[in-house]
Amino acid sequence: MKIKNYMERIVVEKLDELLQGRTDICACEQCRTEMVTYALNHLPPRYVSSHRGEVFTKLDDMNTQNIADVSKVLVKAIEVVSTNPRHSM
Ligand SMILES: [Zn+2]
Repeated sequence: MKIKNYMERIVVEKLDELLQGRTDICACEQCRTEMVTYALNHLPPRYVSSHRGEVFTKLDDMNTQNIADVSKVLVKAIEVVSTNPRHSM
């Protein structure tokens, strides 16, 4: 059985977008992983079979409200992780 949480991919793509040009925020692998984890724990999962996952390439499947929700949660995730990083600066 091959099931993927499509939300994971959306969150990662959106996070990269939001972190672009943000020099005040640590965007190392560890912090980005923390941000993605936080966001995924606060968003409903969207499971797809991995075959269908290949077919979805972009955010086309998501409506504007979903994307707005993802952005909102990610902004919060960035705030939470950047003010309390798991590593020393
Ligand atoms: Zn970091």
